[in-house]
Amino acid sequence: MSFSQLGLSDKVQAAVAAAGYTVPTPIQEQAIPHILAHRDVLGIAQTGTGKTAAFTLPMLTRLEKGRARARMPRTLILEPTRELAAQVEESFAKYGINHKLTVALLIGGVSFDDQDAKLTRGVDVLIATPGRLLDHFERGRLLLSGIEILVIDEADRMLDMGFIPDIERICKLTPFTRQTLFFSATMPPEIARLTGTFLSNPARVEVSKPATTATNVTQLLVASAPEPEKKREILRRLIRDAEGLKNGIIFCNRKTEVAKLHRSLVKDGISAIALHGDMDQRSRTNALESFRNGEITLLVASDVAARGLDIPEVSHIFNFDVPHHAEDYVHRIGRTGRAGRSGATFTLVAPTDKKSVTAIERLIGRTIPWAGNPTEQSFEKSSEQASRSRKVTHHSRPRSHPGARPHLVQKRSRPDQAGLLVPYNLEPKPEAKAQDDTAHLPAFLLRPVPQKAS
Ligand code: AMP
Repeated sequence: MSFSQLGLSDKVQAAVAAAGYTVPTPIQEQAIPHILAHRDVLGIAQTGTGKTAAFTLPMLTRLEKGRARARMPRTLILEPTRELAAQVEESFAKYGINHKLTVALLIGGVSFDDQDAKLTRGVDVLIATPGRLLDHFERGRLLLSGIEILVIDEADRMLDMGFIPDIERICKLTPFTRQTLFFSATMPPEIARLTGTFLSNPARVEVSKPATTATNVTQLLVASAPEPEKKREILRRLIRDAEGLKNGIIFCNRKTEVAKLHRSLVKDGISAIALHGDMDQRSRTNALESFRNGEITLLVASDVAARGLDIPEVSHIFNFDVPHHAEDYVHRIGRTGRAGRSGATFTLVAPTDKKSVTAIERLIGRTIPWAGNPTEQSFEKSSEQASRSRKVTHHSRPRSHPGARPHLVQKRSRPDQAGLLVPYNLEPKPEAKAQDDTAHLPAFLLRPVPQKAS
């Protein structure tokens, strides 16, 4: 299948060629013809699948006919975060190089007046976060009765952030005759209910199972003590020894931890920048920009940054904390291994995280191997057999690593002197595939156990 077979306009096809894309991704192949045929679409796809272009390209084609009127945007795209909204705006700029369309971004943290001036001139594409959109509406500066296409992107993220009442209100303010394009990585019941209410006979397009993780991403668990200072020490070593580390995102569960960890890394001379929801818009944009352009190697982020950020070629993800919600793991992991590239992910796991890890493994349908445990098959045997099998595996390691850390693959939790903990026993899942994830194994895990905490 090529882009020329999808029914996109010549201008759009030229922009796609200029972007260097040769074949549509599966979500593009499946969704674009329906969108051009004016059908509602329910797209179940995670970021990294090319879903932004899947709605942007046909919208641009559709917008070539007709023009915008003052205060009455023709299309509306709702995004959960400012960063995602800004990225969609960039996509319109990139794919709309041959179009003379007006695109406006309504996000919090920037001046109302500039946004208002743009709305007054007439807007073809309005990209907004729900809160700011409703603020403009309530001031009487915006009419939603001219909306031809409504896109609700990252709906499950909207749910997490408590935006569903806003979304319902916005849907009701737009014409009943609109076309609705709805995207979500997962389909929790609340989201399914929303689609039942606001979509009309949608074409369902699903490119991968909800909440599966990309297969080209190596995932490893790293045993850790729960204390933040011990975790920071382990993280520093992971960073120092990570193979092929080009750039990476470190995820923390709390904003305060983001700030603390960021300070600690910088103090150690590590190139890092923080990104979390409490920062003002300008600092967030600057942080993201310096990470994107390669000035800074590591982005320390809270989950607000976890979804949808289009940062090409992130080589590593470090989960400083195991996320409380299993779906956040999938979204965090989604920042690497994008567009078919490979990536590596390390998740620091304390014994108290057992429940969360089990939930993640259930969600993704596979067991995540432990760093230092080269074969998951060992979990599939009795504990006695497993311990034999692990010994064999360690012996098969290069002799230059005689002190390989067998304690890292044992089953009982007990702190060692470096603050590392032996992982607890995670029962194998029958469907879990054995795979050799050791290619990204940090070298320090193969070195002798230090005698003192470092
Ligand atoms: P998204 O899922 O929309 O965040 O897109 C993920 C990445 O894939 C972005 O960097 C896009 O520029 C890129 N992309 C989108 N469509 C294609 C395509 N057909 N071929 C190659 N890359 C693409």
